[in-house]
Amino acid sequence: MIENCSWKKAKEKFKATRVALIPVGATEQHGPQLPLGTDSFTAQALAESGANKTNAICTPVIPIGVSAHHRHFWGTLWVSPEAFRHYMYEIARNLSYHGVRRVIFVNGHGGNFPALQEISRTLRLERIHAVVFQWWTSPSSIALQSKLFQHKGTHAGGMETSIVLAIRPELVDKDSYDEAAKGAPATFGIVKHGSQLPLDTIDFSPSGATLDPREATAEKGKQLFAESEENLVNLIRWLETASDDELDPKPHPN
Ligand SMILES: [Zn+2]
Repeated sequence: MIENCSWKKAKEKFKATRVALIPVGATEQHGPQLPLGTDSFTAQALAESGANKTNAICTPVIPIGVSAHHRHFWGTLWVSPEAFRHYMYEIARNLSYHGVRRVIFVNGHGGNFPALQEISRTLRLERIHAVVFQWWTSPSSIALQSKLFQHKGTHAGGMETSIVLAIRPELVDKDSYDEAAKGAPATFGIVKHGSQLPLDTIDFSPSGATLDPREATAEKGKQLFAESEENLVNLIRWLETASDDELDPKPHPN
């Protein structure tokens, strides 16, 4: 993690790799049972272990993201998508100043995704190649989730509770599981006739949770973590070795 390095040590690390990881989280409510830092902790833990298993650089975690829709629950912090886009774009450009032009945003919070995807396209025009990695959205993670959980979905349900039990068990309040599950919806948000309504979390969840944390275990969390870590390591290795031709924007067809 570069924050632990002197500039001399950082120089060695930057010279030895083509890939940097930027863990991106949130400080937002995760039901009564999980800490506000849930998304930051998962992003940081995955990015750190991905960096340790490869020669990628890992930046400090970005702890506040696009979370306004959770603001009714105490302690949630957020920035606008515009501010977030600018901030993340500039961090990616900092890395290119030090010679690393391939970046993976290790994202722990779904609300950050549209902004990260948008700036990744913008960065590509400058030949800075960014990819957004999320631990819960790959096909192999979804297959594992179906095996482990009756209730699918993410926000503050069995899956996220399991992963926090695996990495920061002391921060999980098991006495609040029943409160979290009471009135919790089966999906995040409400869809009417195929259209997702632009709601806040409090519109559909009285506790801030979705689904049911009572099926969470640390063992399930460890399996989810290991599966995602493997995906991330494979993504780092691919990005490290991909040719410029594969990554660069293309010209017009002939
Ligand atoms: Zn989360």
